[in-house]
Amino acid sequence: MKPDDKGVVEVLKHARLITEQQLQRAYQAQEESGESLKDILFREVSWESVKKFLNYEIPTPFSGEKRALGAVLREAEWISQEQFDEAEREAHRTGEELGQRMVARKLISQQQLQTALAQQKETGLPLWRTLINLGYVDTHQLSQVLGLATVAQDRDVTGAEEHQAFDSRKPRKTGPAAAAQSILGKPELIKNMSGVDVVEAIIDSAVKSRATDIHLDPQEDHMRVRYRIDGMLYDVLQLSLDIVPEAISRFKVLGGMDITQHRHSQDGHFVRMVDNSEIDLRLATAPTVLGEKLVLRILSEKNVLTGIAQLGMEPHQIDLMEQLIAKPYGMVLSTGPVGSGKTTTLYALLNEVNILTKNVMTIEDPVEYQCRGVNQMQVDSASGFGFIEGLRAMLRQDPNIIMVGEIRDEETAMTAVKASMTGVLVLSTLHTNDAPSATGSLIGLNVPRFLISSALIGVVAQRLVRKVCPGCKEEYTPPPSLLEQLSVPEEHRAKKFYRGTGCEKCLNTGYFGRTGVYEVMRVDEELKEAILHGESQMELKRLALKGGMQTLATSTLHKVLDGTTSAEEYLRVIFT
Ligand SMILES: [Zn+2]
Repeated sequence: MKPDDKGVVEVLKHARLITEQQLQRAYQAQEESGESLKDILFREVSWESVKKFLNYEIPTPFSGEKRALGAVLREAEWISQEQFDEAEREAHRTGEELGQRMVARKLISQQQLQTALAQQKETGLPLWRTLINLGYVDTHQLSQVLGLATVAQDRDVTGAEEHQAFDSRKPRKTGPAAAAQSILGKPELIKNMSGVDVVEAIIDSAVKSRATDIHLDPQEDHMRVRYRIDGMLYDVLQLSLDIVPEAISRFKVLGGMDITQHRHSQDGHFVRMVDNSEIDLRLATAPTVLGEKLVLRILSEKNVLTGIAQLGMEPHQIDLMEQLIAKPYGMVLSTGPVGSGKTTTLYALLNEVNILTKNVMTIEDPVEYQCRGVNQMQVDSASGFGFIEGLRAMLRQDPNIIMVGEIRDEETAMTAVKASMTGVLVLSTLHTNDAPSATGSLIGLNVPRFLISSALIGVVAQRLVRKVCPGCKEEYTPPPSLLEQLSVPEEHRAKKFYRGTGCEKCLNTGYFGRTGVYEVMRVDEELKEAILHGESQMELKRLALKGGMQTLATSTLHKVLDGTTSAEEYLRVIFT
């Protein structure tokens, strides 16, 4: 089916290549001049920028299906076959440059780039797709590098739009912004506040809205304030430029930072009491062309985890994890994109260990929770104490169990693998999408297959899904097309499905809190053999499934079917 102009326009909007205003102007011009919408829009959007994104997959509106922008434009005859081909060639040519930019921004290592480029040669896929497939970056990081600054965070707007598209009622007028503002006070009130008071109001309302991060992003004519709630960023406030300097200075004073320094990034931290509980705030500045950007991470003592049982695993997965943590040595990896709760899972595992009889040590960046009885060390890059130095220090302390916050380079990978073969249980994290890909990632770090095969005992891949808000949970019937897309087995389609309609408790998002979904792979004899013989990832996955592994998709589906989360959330988490 040939997409019509309206579909193309939606896709362009989604790719952030045109703004709503540009579109309105284009419609107006179309009416006045009778020119085609395509010609008008393509004057607004530079061919260079379109070219850059031709290979970028964008969910087409409402169907949720993902299509490459180029394919949509080509089918609608907005671009010619020659232009399309040229852009394809360009994508390969610029692939390496994109890779170097990612290395420069420390999103991937030089080694990971080499692995990806080698793989790219075989598959012919664009580099960015390869990097995602290998689990080295997620779409959010990628969109940042590509300059698609708002794609990832707007995904949640898309989620809401999809939600509304399935919902025949009127779209919601209010959202987290409105609700957070009701906590912050009316915008007029903010206007009359001093910078110091605004800072207090921002912190207070963020904590009360269950935000985990506060972002202050300088814009040309205001400072944008956003909260991250249940993993999603929401715009809550615009600060006028006249109070921005005072507010930023206040944050820096609180964080013990140098307020005269604007050109270098700085880190700081402070503690606040909000509603009788202690809140630990870590802040970091970054100089941008429009001024200083500030991010605050909110660590609440309430967030401390107790154990595996609270993670959201299914009983058979908990059993598997308990078996893994009881092993005397070997390597257990927790994998997933940034912000998927990997470290939390490792903490929960450590909490299961009998610290009285075992020496448990960690090297982290940073130490996020303090675990009683565990010797925790923090990476200090300024003084040259990185993961590898921490790892070596731990190995000299006769440890039983060690946790390495992240394995990013060859040296750390090799040292950790070797330690796990000599009587130490090693826990660590990797950025890969699913459990079987963890081996590929280690191979990418030049760890020989025979070492991986003997060291690795288990991998747990995970994602976080938002839970339907209990305050506004309602039963509903998802459209058959959605159930089709999610491959919901026929026998479950008549089941009850739930969603949140939005209430005060959830700031009108329909969700409250998150839970993990998991894929636990136990590396059995058959898998060890397969790893040793260099079998493909697909074969490893097949064997893991045969050995009883339940995929992330299935685990998420179970959470939809038991009413914990919504079908839309499944779509967002598993298919994006
Ligand atoms: Zn609610």
